[in-house]
Amino acid sequence: MAGIRTLHWDYGQSGIVATVAHERPHEGRAEEHFLPSGPFAILPLKGNRSSLVWTEPTREAERLVASDDMVFELELEQRFGHKLGALTVEGPKKAFPLGLTLAREFVRPRIALAGDAAHGIHPIAGQGLNLGFKDAAALAETVVDAERRGLDIGALDVLEGYQRWRRFDTLQMGITTDVLNRLFSNDNSVLRMARSFGLSLVDRAPALKDFFIGQAAGLTKGPSPRLLRGEAI
Ligand SMILES: Cc1cc2nc3c(=O)[nH]c(=O)nc-3n(C[C@H](O)[C@H](O)[C@H](O)COP(=O)(O)OP(=O)(O)OC[C@H]3O[C@@H](n4cnc5c(N)ncnc54)[C@H](O)[C@@H]3O)c2cc1C
Repeated sequence: MAGIRTLHWDYGQSGIVATVAHERPHEGRAEEHFLPSGPFAILPLKGNRSSLVWTEPTREAERLVASDDMVFELELEQRFGHKLGALTVEGPKKAFPLGLTLAREFVRPRIALAGDAAHGIHPIAGQGLNLGFKDAAALAETVVDAERRGLDIGALDVLEGYQRWRRFDTLQMGITTDVLNRLFSNDNSVLRMARSFGLSLVDRAPALKDFFIGQAAGLTKGPSPRLLRGEAI
């Protein structure tokens, strides 16, 4: 409706999301396995439960979510393993088509896009929600700052300050997740060698490892909005 165009491509993959109860405690540990069909992540929830983000080609994902829980649990066990004991699916299982979507502009007069309205990225690095939190914090700071200076908070030049602040980070994360997905979600033997070399390199270089852990935890350096640093605006 605002006439903002987007850059979009589809990955042909869907992310299956479900909650799984297991016999043994996960001890707060998250795991991600890079399988040829795409990443398979197990994220700890309260109690003996975990949330799944399981990537498959879209048609296979649709077959899996349409199957009954017993068939789904059998397929799940092959990927999840037996380390947490028997698995039971809790509640609905759903598949979301995955793609990269970047709005060409984040702002128009009196309009600002934030979160997935501005950018949708592959969940391979678990960064989508963090990007949205950063947008919300940067937008709040931009607007409060303009209000204090007596400016019109919805004026294009004020909102463009928010766009400049967030655009590079968003584009960088969009490209990073796109490259990671291309590198990891396949069974090509050359890429298999490249990624095992890449991963062992990361394991041997603590600074590089800290960078990736920091990115995954949303603890990046640089001009982060004050609300994100726990400071009042
Ligand atoms: C499979 C999958 C796994 C993911 N895993 C992770 C992860 O591990 N870590 C992470 O950080 N991120 C992850 N993400 C990304 C994360 O879910 C999103 O980045 C985040 O939910 C975006 O939040 P949002 O509020 O911007 O948008 P949304 O969560 O999409 O919320 C928008 C809301 O607006 C509603 N809405 C839309 N149009 C209208 C309208 N016209 N009127 C009223 N309401 C409307 C929608 O129904 C929706 O409830 C994942 C995404 C997917 C698909």
